[in-house]
Amino acid sequence: MAQLFAESLIRDVPDFPKPGIMFKDIHPVLQSPQALREVCDLLTEDAKAKGAEVIVGIESRGFIFGVPIALNLDLPFVLTRKVGKLPYDKIQEEYSLEYGTNTIEMHTDAISPGQRCYIVDDLLATGGTAAAAAKLVERLNGQVAGFGFMVELEFLDGRQNLPGYNIHALLKY
Ligand code: AMP
Repeated sequence: MAQLFAESLIRDVPDFPKPGIMFKDIHPVLQSPQALREVCDLLTEDAKAKGAEVIVGIESRGFIFGVPIALNLDLPFVLTRKVGKLPYDKIQEEYSLEYGTNTIEMHTDAISPGQRCYIVDDLLATGGTAAAAAKLVERLNGQVAGFGFMVELEFLDGRQNLPGYNIHALLKY
């Protein structure tokens, strides 16, 4: 596959947010309409190919890419949010981080039974966040049509946390 323009814009920031982490900073991609469109269009193609009926964005950078995909395909957009942010009836999933845990939530009326959901985030690291988002979808009796990421950190083997799911990542490190 030809190299993506977006790849040339991703910035490595060492030791953020803590020592030993190489943070993939996507802000320069967002500052380039050409690169942002490239990423959103490629993920849109994948979501379409997987028969998505709903686009699910993972807070917060999943929202940036998820909304254009939903608009491109004329589909509903649904949010998973960090605990305490959603106003209406909701369910939650807790998942492990390197140190401690995190919790994400989804509104109970976000997905109808059987709907094919395409889950979007900027980056797949350990896969804990994505796996929790999939559980929320499935607890509401939705189907996970697939996952779309701009970046996958292959050395963290996030796919191990997402067995059996269809995962598409545009750039791999
Ligand atoms: P994980 O649950 O480990 O797959 O982490 C995924 C979430 O953390 C994504 O929403 C990413 O935005 C963020 N993240 C984790 N590691 C990095 C990294 N090295 N660079 C940029 N974002 C990261």
